[in-house]
Amino acid sequence: MTQTCFNAYVLTLFPEMFPTLLGQALAGKALDNGVWKLHVSNIRDFAEDIHKSVDDMPYGGGAGMVMRPDVLGRAIESLPKDVPIYYLSPRGQPLQQSQVKSFAKQNSIGLICGRYEGIDERVLDYYGIKELSIGDYVLSGGEVGAHVVLDAIIRLREGFMGQPESLSEESFENNLLEYPHYTRPAVWKEQEVPEVLLSGHHEKIKQWRHQKSQEITAERRPDLLQVATLKKKDLKFRKKDAKMRAK
Ligand code: SAM
Repeated sequence: MTQTCFNAYVLTLFPEMFPTLLGQALAGKALDNGVWKLHVSNIRDFAEDIHKSVDDMPYGGGAGMVMRPDVLGRAIESLPKDVPIYYLSPRGQPLQQSQVKSFAKQNSIGLICGRYEGIDERVLDYYGIKELSIGDYVLSGGEVGAHVVLDAIIRLREGFMGQPESLSEESFENNLLEYPHYTRPAVWKEQEVPEVLLSGHHEKIKQWRHQKSQEITAERRPDLLQVATLKKKDLKFRKKDAKMRAK
């Protein structure tokens, strides 16, 4: 089935921050070609007082300002009703490729970019909005996070990539990290490309890459390997590799 255009709705206090990075390279091309559409709203446009205020002091005291629920609420209600909305926040579940894949199956997403100390909690409760983190660190605003989320989604949409089959071998597929890549020249600074890659033997190359994936994952992200589905011969290799590592 041919995918329709993916609609990305972004609520931000800094609309000029979009599409910037996403207007370049493949994401930019996809935007021009209608693979996805970007709808950016300035939250400040929904402020009704003379000063166009969007934030206020936190009840209970403390440093920083909080984004007002009335202003943000109007911005949220301006979006189409069926758009699943997420708030970029360090408190959310860190984004994973499996979730990106399920986002990419949707036709739209709405992203709220916070600023200051964040948004009034009642907005999340009232609209049932989930929080989405891009990692365990704190950014100054949700806009960079929105770029990350959208970039990850859009590249999985039909029409984005010339060779969509290259997606099936990437990191996090089957909970494995990707194998190493090499290109010409065959010898660089006295370092040679692994011989098997020059052999032209497709089955052996496939096997070598799969084993390298396992080795790299075991070394860097053993947590992923715990949940990867490995075949019998892979398990044998894993045992051997673990033994070597223990020496
Ligand atoms: N006071 C908040 C806390 O400690 O959880 C941090 C607020 S941060 C300075 C301002 C905004 O940046 C947040 O409202 C959120 O939208 C965004 N942000 C910061 N870190 C993020 C992360 N790791 N993932 C996604 N968004 C983030």
